[in-house]
Amino acid sequence: MTAHLTNQEIYERIYGAISQRKLAPGTKLSEERLAQTFHASRTRVREVLMRLSQELVIELHHNRGAFVASPTPRDLRDVFNVRRALERAIAAQLSATYAGQAIAVMRSHLEREARARTSGDRAALARLTGEFHLRLAEITDNRLFTDSVRRLVALTSLAIAQYDARASSACPEHEHGDIVAAIESGDVRRAERLMLDHLDHVEQGIQLPAAEPEEIDFAAIFQVEPADKPRKRAVAARARKATGS
Ligand SMILES: [Zn+2]
Repeated sequence: MTAHLTNQEIYERIYGAISQRKLAPGTKLSEERLAQTFHASRTRVREVLMRLSQELVIELHHNRGAFVASPTPRDLRDVFNVRRALERAIAAQLSATYAGQAIAVMRSHLEREARARTSGDRAALARLTGEFHLRLAEITDNRLFTDSVRRLVALTSLAIAQYDARASSACPEHEHGDIVAAIESGDVRRAERLMLDHLDHVEQGIQLPAAEPEEIDFAAIFQVEPADKPRKRAVAARARKATGS
């Protein structure tokens, strides 16, 4: 790498590698090595890592550094609950906007997905099926939809990388095409239902481990009153501590 990258570019490279599953959950992101790789100061790398931790795709641990996040089954449920609400709204808005007309950008995206499927390029297919949802959000021309879906797709990719050993494609064949066709025909109800069904299929397709250590109910096992477990707040507090902010 010859040209010096801006913080935004470094952020995009790391974010891209995580969302495309090139960096697996739990991978340590050494500040020093990243600084060397990007020819940037550790301060700048730390700023980028802080931003990524705010977006939940990495975790900062006090004294241990930064790691690619490992979403729990609970995190995954939360992600899909929000995705269903948001992407249903996106499908409804687009059905009203594009009724009766073809959406060229989505049609060409579907062709790229089909080519990756035919050629058996699983890495490209994994990237493209995630991008499908982002492209739909982008054409609403609402940045809040786009930013939110980008984060949620990245978290979904992390969960797939973590739990689904096959990690082929979480999006079943034909369903993207059916959604685009419903949007183009202006059928709001159908587009919403197909999107909700599709997200259900994606969620169900992710193989969760049979036993998740974090889900063990010690309170029940040891027959004591359950205590409040503010896990998310503990993680956030650790992140603040780790960065000294
Ligand atoms: Zn999909």
